[in-house]
Amino acid sequence: MTTAHPPVPKAELHLHIEGTLEPELAFALAARNGIALPYASEDELRRAYSFSDLQSFLNLYYALMAVLRTEEDFADLAHAYLARAKEQGVRHAEIFFDPQAHTSRGVPIGTVIEGLGRALDAAQETYGISTRLIMCFLRDESAESALETFEAARPYLDRITAVGLDSAEVGNPPSKFREVYARAREAGLKCVAHAGEEGPPAYVWEALDLLGVDRVDHGVRCMEDPELVARLVAEQIPLTVCPLSNVRLRVIDDLADHPLPAMLDAGLLVTVNSDDPAYFGGYAQDNFTAVRDALGLDEDTLRTLARNSFQASFLDEETRAAYLEEVDAHRGA
Ligand SMILES: [Zn+2]
Repeated sequence: MTTAHPPVPKAELHLHIEGTLEPELAFALAARNGIALPYASEDELRRAYSFSDLQSFLNLYYALMAVLRTEEDFADLAHAYLARAKEQGVRHAEIFFDPQAHTSRGVPIGTVIEGLGRALDAAQETYGISTRLIMCFLRDESAESALETFEAARPYLDRITAVGLDSAEVGNPPSKFREVYARAREAGLKCVAHAGEEGPPAYVWEALDLLGVDRVDHGVRCMEDPELVARLVAEQIPLTVCPLSNVRLRVIDDLADHPLPAMLDAGLLVTVNSDDPAYFGGYAQDNFTAVRDALGLDEDTLRTLARNSFQASFLDEETRAAYLEEVDAHRGA
């Protein structure tokens, strides 16, 4: 990435750490763990990252996770992301992870959380990035599996800020996970959920009313339901939008047609994020640059998006205010 100005300071609020696994690191970890990848070279694997649809993405995504086995692997994964995020102007990151994608392969949940935690503990000092960890449940797994995962994570809840819900949305409505979200709220955790990406606006209503989410991930399909937009605006519920992901997964045909400007005009608290950047063609600033170019957004609008990212974060008020001052002092997008 080359930009004339340093990138605007921003928070990244929708980022799956497993989706930051670049081919180089996948090969390095495979070698360290004695795992054979079904690709002859990094180049061949890089070509496989040009998947054609959601299923081919998910197949590759889950297959490559096999290289993540030890605490050190998870720490290396997070370090690699944080180093890239720093270059992209990220000052605060709220990072998703999918414990079930690892425990189902026999990796203990403590290995995942302690490994990621080790990198995040060093993030402020090493990269100048504050962090939070969000534990996601795979919505295509059962409600019982989500409950078991939550209970297995109890000894580590001091490392976890929020719970989330991800993976294949259609057919797996938020209502399925009411119980585990109630337990998470009881334990003092914040709540977010993917809703209204491929699924209908009704799933966003469910996430709000049945799960009590503080923030909606994606949510772009709210625009089909004016009453829902009014609710989200009135309560200033943040939406973590992922433009390059939307194009890559065919939620939107063309970035030039993305509803982001209409969402901003409607008064929604919208943020821009990278989702699974190793697979979707770009990290945080790459997404900012892409929407600037495709949608003709000016510097003030990009600064609004950056301000929104801190407003929508789970930061304490003092730290939030300091970051907002950094945004206001920044010139150039
Ligand atoms: Zn996502």
